[in-house]
Amino acid sequence: MDTLFSYRNMKLPKTIERLPELAYNLWFSWNDDAKELFAMISRELWDQFLHNPVRLLAETHPDVWEPLSKDTAFLKQYGKVFRQWDEYSHADTWFEKTFPEHRQQQFAYFSAEFGFHESLPIYSGGLGVLAGDHCKSASDLGLPLVGIGLLYKKGYFNQKINKEGRQLSEAVRYDFSKLPLLPAFNGQDEWLTVQLQLADRTVQLRIWQVLVGRVSVYLLDADVEENSPWDRELTAQLYGGDQDTRIAQEMLLGMGGVKVLRALNVPTAVYHINEGHAAFQAYERIREQLEAGVPFHVAVEIIRASSVFTTHTPVPAGHDAFPLHLTDYYLSPLLTRWAEHKEGLIGLGLDEGKQLFNMTHLALNTSALRNGVSKLHGEVSREMFRSIHGHIQTNEVPISHITNGVHMNSWLAHELKELYGRFLPGTWLTNQTNHDLWRQVELIPAESLWETHTRLKEKLIGYARSNLREHRRRNDMPAHLVEEVGGYLSGKALTIGFARRFATYKRATLLFKDLDRLDRLVNDPDRPVQFMFAGKAHPADQPGQDMLRDIYLVSRMERFRGKIVLLENYDMNMARYLVQGVDVWLNNPLRPYEASGTSGQKAAMNGVINLSVLDGWWDEAYEGTNGWRIEGDFSADPQAQERENTDSVYRLLEQEVIPLYYNQGPLPAQWVDRMKRSIMTLAPVYNTHRMVMDYTHSSYMPTLNRTLSFLADRNELAVKVADYKSFMKANWHFVKFLEINDGSGERALNPAGTVKELGQPLKEVTATIKFGPVWYMDTAVELIYYEEQEGHWQPVVVTMSPVKEIDNRVMKYRAMIPSHLRHGAHFSARIRPVSPNFATSFELPLITTL
Ligand SMILES: *Cc1c(COP(=O)(O)O)cnc(C)c1O
Repeated sequence: MDTLFSYRNMKLPKTIERLPELAYNLWFSWNDDAKELFAMISRELWDQFLHNPVRLLAETHPDVWEPLSKDTAFLKQYGKVFRQWDEYSHADTWFEKTFPEHRQQQFAYFSAEFGFHESLPIYSGGLGVLAGDHCKSASDLGLPLVGIGLLYKKGYFNQKINKEGRQLSEAVRYDFSKLPLLPAFNGQDEWLTVQLQLADRTVQLRIWQVLVGRVSVYLLDADVEENSPWDRELTAQLYGGDQDTRIAQEMLLGMGGVKVLRALNVPTAVYHINEGHAAFQAYERIREQLEAGVPFHVAVEIIRASSVFTTHTPVPAGHDAFPLHLTDYYLSPLLTRWAEHKEGLIGLGLDEGKQLFNMTHLALNTSALRNGVSKLHGEVSREMFRSIHGHIQTNEVPISHITNGVHMNSWLAHELKELYGRFLPGTWLTNQTNHDLWRQVELIPAESLWETHTRLKEKLIGYARSNLREHRRRNDMPAHLVEEVGGYLSGKALTIGFARRFATYKRATLLFKDLDRLDRLVNDPDRPVQFMFAGKAHPADQPGQDMLRDIYLVSRMERFRGKIVLLENYDMNMARYLVQGVDVWLNNPLRPYEASGTSGQKAAMNGVINLSVLDGWWDEAYEGTNGWRIEGDFSADPQAQERENTDSVYRLLEQEVIPLYYNQGPLPAQWVDRMKRSIMTLAPVYNTHRMVMDYTHSSYMPTLNRTLSFLADRNELAVKVADYKSFMKANWHFVKFLEINDGSGERALNPAGTVKELGQPLKEVTATIKFGPVWYMDTAVELIYYEEQEGHWQPVVVTMSPVKEIDNRVMKYRAMIPSHLRHGAHFSARIRPVSPNFATSFELPLITTL
């Protein structure tokens, strides 16, 4: 511990001695009273240190504590906060009540980034914030969840924008001793380290612990003296470096992460990987099984049964793929030790067509349960990964969806929590997934909601002005340009926000396709509109940085001065101001690349109305009255979509949004109605409590139960499943259709003539199948035809039943289908393996079709 002074143990006067305990638990970040308590120590330092309570404690002058420990107002707040904290840490939880029998086994949650709070900058955008919110809700709900991630010495990067609108990425080196993290200890009270074999060497990793309410997140840090300079830089930067750094980082995360769980003796039955970055966890666990003498094919089944994979983007660049020589090199310790399984191991991640090692393939092949992050993204992912699942229908590809949400207590404005508290039942926050409760938003007087919203908007404008002022001051702009920022933006004007990573598919500059039309909107003296933009572009993403620059240049045009602004260094702090303070949240990605999107969910619960392309979560959330939909033909080419979407945004603004906002004097009653519709319909659904409950019910618990049953009696069931799959793979080629008789023109075949069912004349179809060594009961025989439903052709699957054994291992099957269908032209038949021990119907992609 020598070099590290932990402020957790700092001595404070008795009456306030528990402050460090609070500072070292990120629970403070979603408790407004706790944040206020820290602000009371020094509002100036609290803001200056980006709301980092550890740094605040460390750098507050020691003379401050004595008087503070006797300050009545402070002590009152202190008492209030610790009562809540103690109550929180001891309360009965949803998980304990729902699953009283399962408290031992932990759910491990791996993520390359975690966005908990602005004070711990180990996130770049939505993926990290989602992971942070996941952990927070897991804590609130009492899940036995443990997080695994990396600790980046330089975080992501701080964005500075220069006078020409160019993004400069400022490198930062964080002083870990002043962040809300603690060294993780091993059993002997020593700092925990783990070793990982990487290529030709061993990398030492130091482990840190982040407390997130009841949940612990362990972060791996390679910046230790024993490592070579190159290795020390492995955890320097999130999404930085080249392919070498990237694959090494992912090995640290996945394989190192498993070692951390072992070193801490965490009994783990579920391994959830948040995006493919952590997929190497499978290799470390297969290695453990092999070392324990478990055969390779059984090891793979055990690992698959206990892994859950969430895929997060349809953008190809979001799926890491490495040249095979890199995997060969970095995985050489594993591949040399288990040379006889090299092909099997690499095969799990091999993209055969491209001859690349693909982390998403590895994740899919080693996880029984997989999901996308919205209904639409589920569909898109099934289409994307259909080809690696054999000849099955798109809707049968075993990838489901669990729609993302956001942590309400972190994102909902304090002022609105108070307002909701007055009109909703007392349990509204705990029972936030209850729709009935949210209907009572109706009871909130329009004036109160509008007044609260207006205050939040004023707060945002103040924040935005100081951001702009700072930008100009730093860029040595003339004093009058710095000062005039004080007159920028108006609390009365309709305010539209757009903030997110500047990935090109998000099309941040869509609105600028017609500057004259925009000019007319913005500069209408009776109905002014203003825009706020913010977001970081990845330092290697030139087109993203160009978009940023375009926005900057537009914001500097005389006609848009003070009405279109670009704020710098978007982070969670700024995100809170924006999603709580604007009137409209704009999102115009190229469909379907926005897998979910979560900033609009944050906005919605704050009464901010979404104006968005029907992509990601909005595709399932929009219902006609709770926001607006940007239109366009999704099947058109990208340029055409861009034109249509642009035109639609302008039209909506001109004809619907602006008129509604400026409808009736100072209180736009119909606007407030829409705000209420938005809150009422969206808040109960698009929160992480609902999301984490969904994961628990549909992923974690089934995975836990299946894993425990696989492992019982010395892996008995795992062996059975693995042997079954091996047998099926080896013998499937014997399974053949000998004949299909669709009774064309021979209705007499059906003794009862045509049977009418659901108004359709039916007929009998028979199939003769040779099974060879495969037992017919281990298969399903099905007919597939297409039916038009709501304008789409949907596959219909009809199961055939065995009728009689014709010959040794030759069986006849029958089924009834609509009589007009002809084999080949209208329907096909297929045979597939089935097993009650599969997690999903198409777990084994062996399909025979005719
Ligand atoms: C919520 C959030 C995001 C994600 O926003 P999307 O709408 O999903 O792009 C990104 N960055 C920050 C700082 C956020 O708070």
